[in-house]
Parts: sequence; C-alpha cells; structure tokens
Amino acid sequence: MSWDVLIIGGGPAGAVAAADLARRGYRVGVLERKRFPRAKLCGEFLAPTGVAHLQHGSLLDPLLRLGAHIVREAAFISSRGHRYTLPLAQFPDGAGFGLGISRATLDHLLLECARACGAEVLEQVCVTEAIASSGRIIGVRARMLPLGKRVTFLASVVIDASGRARALDPSSRSLKSESDSQFFAFQAHVSGIESIGEAVELYFYPSGYGGLVRLEGDLYNLCGLTKREILRRAESDLERLLTLTLRQNPRARETLRNARLESPLTGCGPLRFGLEALPHTHVVIGDAAALMDPFLGQGISNAMESGLLAAALVDAAFRMGDLRTLASRYARAFRRRFIRAWRAAALLRPVALHGDLGDRLLARLPERALAQHLLLRLIFGRKIG
Ligand SMILES: Cc1cc2nc3c(=O)[nH]c(=O)nc-3n(C[C@H](O)[C@H](O)[C@H](O)COP(=O)(O)OP(=O)(O)OC[C@H]3O[C@@H](n4cnc5c(N)ncnc54)[C@H](O)[C@@H]3O)c2cc1C
Repeated sequence: MSWDVLIIGGGPAGAVAAADLARRGYRVGVLERKRFPRAKLCGEFLAPTGVAHLQHGSLLDPLLRLGAHIVREAAFISSRGHRYTLPLAQFPDGAGFGLGISRATLDHLLLECARACGAEVLEQVCVTEAIASSGRIIGVRARMLPLGKRVTFLASVVIDASGRARALDPSSRSLKSESDSQFFAFQAHVSGIESIGEAVELYFYPSGYGGLVRLEGDLYNLCGLTKREILRRAESDLERLLTLTLRQNPRARETLRNARLESPLTGCGPLRFGLEALPHTHVVIGDAAALMDPFLGQGISNAMESGLLAAALVDAAFRMGDLRTLASRYARAFRRRFIRAWRAAALLRPVALHGDLGDRLLARLPERALAQHLLLRLIFGRKIG
C-alpha cells in the first residue's frame, strides 16, 4: 500500500496533520496501533490555543454537544495554599477559554474528522520499523493487530506522530536532564468533587504537582506527577496515593474530600521533558518531537499546531518538488515556533517538580491584566519570522 503522506499515530498531532493534508488534496494514510475511542493518560485540559484550532475546523460545537466543559481560569495553588489565578482570556492567539474534555472523546472526534476529510485511517496497526532510502524514510513495516500479520507501507513523505513512543527511532530520545527521569504520572477519573466552577486547578505538593478539571457530566480528571518511590509506596491505591501527594496541598484536601474513583488508576513514566534535536530523515510532530511539561497545559495544543505546521511545509515541498530538504526545514520551523515556551518550561521545571512552585514565586507573578497578557504573549505568542 502506498500514499503521498504516511502518518504514524492518530493522536491530536497525527489527526490534525492528516485532516489538513487530505483537505489539500493529498492521498494520506494514518496507521494507529489502538482502536479508537481510546483512553489516554493526560490532564485532559485543552488550552485556549487548542480551542481556537477546533473553532477554525468547525469542531468546537460538536465537542460542546459531546459534553466538553468550558474553563475560564487557571488557578495555581502552592502547597501553603497561596492561590494565583490567571484568566484564560489573557492567552494570546486563543479562543478566550479552555476546555475540560476526555481524550477518548476529543481524540476520536479529531480522527473521525481526518477520515471525513479523506484520509485513510487504519486502526490496530502497530508500526515496528522504518524503511530508509538515500537518507530519507520512505516507508514502514508494521504488524496488523490482533493477528500479527506483517505489512509494508510506502509513501513519498513519512511523518512520525506516535507520541512518546517515537515509533521510528525509539532509542533517539536523549536525556537532557537526568533529574527529570525519576518522575512518573498518574491519572484517574473521579466524581464527588467540591465545586471548582469554571477553573482548572493546579496543586503543588512536596513531591510534584497535580491538577483537577471538570470533564463531561459530573466526571473530573485527576492527574498528577510524583516520584517513582511515592507511586510504589501507594501500591495502586488511590486513597494512599492522594494522601502521599495531592492531599498535602490544603486546597486539594478540600476539593478531594469526597472524591470517588470512576475509572482505573493509571500511571506512566519515567517522563523526560524538553526540546531535542529533530531528525533530518523524516518529519516528527507532537510529543514525538518534544514533550512539554504538563503544568503549562499546552501539550495537545502544541501537538495540533505542529501538525498544521508540518502539513503546510509538506504542501510547500510537494509544490517545489523538493522533498529532500523537507525534514530539516520543518525542524528549523518547529524550533522557531516553540523555542520560547520550551525555554520558559525549562526555567520553571525545577521549581514546579522539586517541592513547591513557591508562595514567593506565585506572589510575585503579575495580577494586572495587561502585565499577564504581555507575559503570556512573550512566552506563548507566535514568533514572527
Ligand atoms: C501527566 C501528563 C499530563 C498531561 N496533561 C495535559 C493537559 O492537561 N493538556 C494538554 O494539552 N496536554 C497534556 N499533556 C500532554 C499531552 O498528553 C500530549 O502533548 C499529547 O497527547 C500529544 O499528542 P500526540 O498526538 O503528539 O501524541 P499522542 O496523543 O500520544 O498520540 C500518539 C498516538 O500514536 C499511537 N502510536 C504510538 N506508537 C505507535 C506505533 N508504533 N504504531 C502506530 N501507532 C502508534 C498511539 O497509540 C497514540 O494514539 C499531558 C502529558 C502528561 C504526561
């Protein structure tokens, strides 16, 4: 089987790139190892920039009808209870609000949209190996699940959108910061939460941080980061895990007082955040390109935006008849677009992960709307040129 563009992974990055390229008239194939809708460990908060992408693609109304919860502010709460509130209307290039939405619902909608735009989406196909020729990846070998039949797929352009798995070169993820690798994530859907209104709340505690946001109906997403040894001590027991992590924050103690587990408690890690060098053999988008710290709530939005960036450059490369330099041009454009946010994340990471974001830091952040807007524009705004 062969296409103009082959995309590995049907998450937000892959689905958005596939939809955009199919709309531009290319023959696009998407290989996804899971069957959708599928759950995904995530804070399940979509930032205003991501909501703007959905609005642009006429997907916001369908998502609201499916029960997405509108989020108007982000509240950062230190382990001593200091609260700093950021109105999401201050975000640059955004819709003015965020959303709480389960990944099962969001990702399914995005992948179905890619299909409706004309992309050929094959689920339960696990890519195992890249096929290279003259310094470029031109295809993959994969296993069709659940039987395991081996198949080869070829394309003029191959895009890796396989998330943290980085299916085409899994060993390439270099460790920039060894200290980050001791951190693991956990997540569950819960009910019985004291109202947090239209906020996403982020709680800092001695071994990391976690968040709470309302999803469809009365369901809430509870997600956190902590050290490996804490996760081990909790032995998959939510109550024990909460006592060792979130309940060390006074506000989280209050909101989670009557929390009830509504889905299995899941975990993943170790997590290594940061921007790394991208290959020149193929295009890499979303988390496969770089893992953004969850406390910035930008992962899904960045994944979608990198998908759109890649689609525009793939289109330009086909038009110019130059696929050879595509990956290196994309790598430069990706870095230009996201470098400021990654630098900000790297600066804040040690404070967020090792103890408390800090009463002192939260107290110093600007409360005035104009200052907040300028700060956010400086970090997240589009870099021109
Ligand atoms: C603890 C935690 C909390 C987070 N919270 C938030 C949040 O609240 N808001 C936010 O915006 N971001 C958050 N993120 C980040 C967000 O989850 C990611 O940035 C986002 O999922 C990236 O999308 P993607 O499409 O690049 O990858 P993914 O969503 O990971 O999709 C990749 C897809 O590729 C498929 N795949 C993998 N390997 C193969 C293979 N070999 N063959 C075929 N298919 C394959 C997978 O099944 C998957 O469906 C969080 C991350 C973590 C770790």
